[in-house]
Amino acid sequence: MEIRELITKPSSVQRKALLNKEVSAVELTEAVYSQVENVDGQIGAYNSLTKEFALETAKKVDEKLQKGEDIPPLAGIPLALKDNINLKSYPTTASSKILENFISPYDATVTKKLKSNLIPIIGKANLDEFAMGSSNENSAFKIVRNPWNLKKVPGGSSGGSAAAVAAGEATIALGSDTGGSIRLPASYCGLVGLKPTYGRVSRYGLIAFASSLDQIGPITRNVEDAALLLNVISGYDEKDSTSLNQASSDFTKDLNNTLKGTKIGYIKELCSEGLSEDVSKYIQKSLEMYKSMGAEIVEISLPLIKYSIAVYYIVATAEASSNLARFDGVKYGYRTKNAENLYDMYVKTRAEGFGEEVKRRIMLGTYALSSGYYDAYYKKAQQLRRLIKNDFDNAFSKVDVLLSPTCPHTAFDIGSKVEDPLSMYLTDIATITANLAGIPAMNIPLGLDKDKMPVGLQLQANCLNENKLLNVAFKLEEVVQFNYSIPSMTLV
Ligand code: GLN
Repeated sequence: MEIRELITKPSSVQRKALLNKEVSAVELTEAVYSQVENVDGQIGAYNSLTKEFALETAKKVDEKLQKGEDIPPLAGIPLALKDNINLKSYPTTASSKILENFISPYDATVTKKLKSNLIPIIGKANLDEFAMGSSNENSAFKIVRNPWNLKKVPGGSSGGSAAAVAAGEATIALGSDTGGSIRLPASYCGLVGLKPTYGRVSRYGLIAFASSLDQIGPITRNVEDAALLLNVISGYDEKDSTSLNQASSDFTKDLNNTLKGTKIGYIKELCSEGLSEDVSKYIQKSLEMYKSMGAEIVEISLPLIKYSIAVYYIVATAEASSNLARFDGVKYGYRTKNAENLYDMYVKTRAEGFGEEVKRRIMLGTYALSSGYYDAYYKKAQQLRRLIKNDFDNAFSKVDVLLSPTCPHTAFDIGSKVEDPLSMYLTDIATITANLAGIPAMNIPLGLDKDKMPVGLQLQANCLNENKLLNVAFKLEEVVQFNYSIPSMTLV
């Protein structure tokens, strides 16, 4: 296989080529960098490249292969790292002016794990500033374009991670998901994206947005790669106080189990009104496919979903306002050049350093937490969050997996929602409840709509049931046979 084609394949194909010595890890990495050179001017997936590190890692893989030593399952497989995750000695900007010149003084726990698994990190992937957004238009540096159609958004906030994988600028990627930021871009770019159970993956070294919701997870070309990458990044970490003390598990082990007797609940509130015609058609088709595989299909009602956007945008902004207090021009990054006194320095640094959406959220969050409004907003939102979690507990006493679209529609045009934050927030209707409830959830592609844009299916399972979730996704993937080859325009 030509190397230009090889870089568009999932890891299993690339690994075989590495093990058979058809290609070296250095050659594979270099081929990905030439793809970056060819297409990233149009796509904008990367904020910065980490070439020296990637090639050093690839060289280590080649040395091992030459000596006939075993290599870890994802060794030598090029990865895009979202630019809110620390990689020591390289910039971590969160796509914010306030961190534009910040160099990571340490590795995130997930980064350490990538390193010990000899995974070459190609670069730091663009995102919405501080992961706040659904379209990647909130980056302080540049927008990201969807490789399937350059006029469309790639989804956010992990838009760079997803676009990189879709455009052959990486084989696998890490994103972070606070309310859908892995699943939405995966859906818009025709990829698999998994938000693990809260606490499954360490948040140490991830720039915090809303700490009770944030999780790091994989964006990949198929389900097997998502399972393999979850194997690498998951596990207990004493550096993260919310890390779950779970024995490590092999997330590939249940792939391909039969679905006979598996109960799949479609979420009534997300599968009926407000869907585009094509999304609705594909959802119906997926239900039929599951039925023919022997799964039992049940209707599940989650009536509190109608409050979820309101609840999320109170909880997330409240936590963000507190987390972002640390960016004050003293400890990290940008400091204003023209301050008269200390107070002035704080105010100007933050006024100049943060973008509009981030400021909007800090204001909303500070308001929701203020003593006069705390009971009316923050406390109410937390109470509703508990009720939403109860609804899920109830649903999972009846079914194994919940099914819905990841988004009611496919990727939208760049610029079409940016002036109207509320309509942007509405794109998160199907994804944010999983973060509020802490459960694992993923996107898998179903096919293309009439405009040739990918349609995504969301599957959700109860806490710590990633094995089951991945298997249910895997079985559908086999039948759907979505074409993962990168959109042809990017091969120029
Ligand atoms: N779109 C949501 C938001 O803007 C989710 C973001 C995320 O998951 N990081 O908050």
